[in-house]
Amino acid sequence: MLAQRISLLSSPGTAAAREAARAAAATGRQIIDLAAGEVIIEPPSSVREGAIAAIKAGTNRYTDSIGLTPLRKAIAEKMSAETGIAWNTEHIAITAGAKQGLLDAALAVLNPGDEVVIIRPCWPTFPAQVLLAGAKPVFVDARPPTYIPDIDAIRAAVTPNTKAIIINSPNNPTGAVYDRATLQAIGDLAINYRMWIISDECYSSFVFTGTRHDSILMAHPGARSRTILVNAFSKELAITGWRLGYFAAPREIIAAAKTLQSHTTSNANVIAQYAILHHLQVGDGSFEREMHERLCRARNTGLMILSGLHDVATPGAGGSFFFYLDLSRLISVLGSPVRSTDDIARLLLNESDVGSVPGGTFGDVNGLRLSFGVPPDLLEAGLKRVVETLNSLKTRQAAA
Ligand code: PLP
Repeated sequence: MLAQRISLLSSPGTAAAREAARAAAATGRQIIDLAAGEVIIEPPSSVREGAIAAIKAGTNRYTDSIGLTPLRKAIAEKMSAETGIAWNTEHIAITAGAKQGLLDAALAVLNPGDEVVIIRPCWPTFPAQVLLAGAKPVFVDARPPTYIPDIDAIRAAVTPNTKAIIINSPNNPTGAVYDRATLQAIGDLAINYRMWIISDECYSSFVFTGTRHDSILMAHPGARSRTILVNAFSKELAITGWRLGYFAAPREIIAAAKTLQSHTTSNANVIAQYAILHHLQVGDGSFEREMHERLCRARNTGLMILSGLHDVATPGAGGSFFFYLDLSRLISVLGSPVRSTDDIARLLLNESDVGSVPGGTFGDVNGLRLSFGVPPDLLEAGLKRVVETLNSLKTRQAAA
């Protein structure tokens, strides 16, 4: 018999969507998979060269459980330059992707019975990790078209048991980029109600409106002593499988992570650590700039195609690399057999050969997530099929 905690976890919906797309492709169909949570592009040569050099140099052994000191230092410098806030080595832990950083944060600060405010739609691992830590997710719905959470709704969700709030800007799946006023207000709430802020900023390099990403601590430096900033190279350098992330936090959280990681996974992969260190030392930023430019072009093309949708508003897509469609209006005018975004995602895959992720995965019955991190020709073809299929639904049903 399995432990109870396993039954608390939902099955991973994004992985299921991708598996469905792969299974369809395996039957010989030309599937365009817009379900991916990663940019399909070759990683920078500096990262690959760094990994090869590390292997050739015989770097095979354990490192400190929270990573190589020179890498922690290099990340502290990168973060200081990006945020304008001074970080040093003691504030940084290296993790196996953002996912481990988030789990460290949850296990370090949550006790059974604690409540954690999570803004929904949300990446499903947030509530899963809160449950694994024995605590209770309390959801606050962020609504279309902006998907920026309402501060009064967050305040109303806070109880004496609230221990933390998890935020994610730029957001997966909605693409929302929180404005400074919202971030400041969240910082104020955290201070007033003595909550931790766990801020997942792993899409920080992907902001397409305005000039740059605002970390919660840039908006509210005063919240520093209760903030854990989680980030990773997974998306930024297109190395999701290498498993290299990090977080910046007060020293006691870093010390807790050191203990947690020493008893769970030990250090993040040593080759990946050296590869990133090499990239941070020799990279000139050109890969990151080119990737950003490519995604800007993809976003513009995609928004133009999606503006042809009837009964569906063109998404904001201010950040991350997702178009998140609010299908509530379309679904309300349809009837059986298309009643939900699950049905629509199934139809897109089965009839139009396009993979997508239905909003239910993110706790939102109305949404549909489409990635624009795929090569331009596939994106264009895939989105045209989406528009054609969704626009045909009403007429098809009327004819049925
Ligand atoms: N946080 C968010 C919001 C994500 O969407 C993802 C992956 O999709 C992660 C964290 C996981 O990042 P990593 O692969 O670095 O663990």
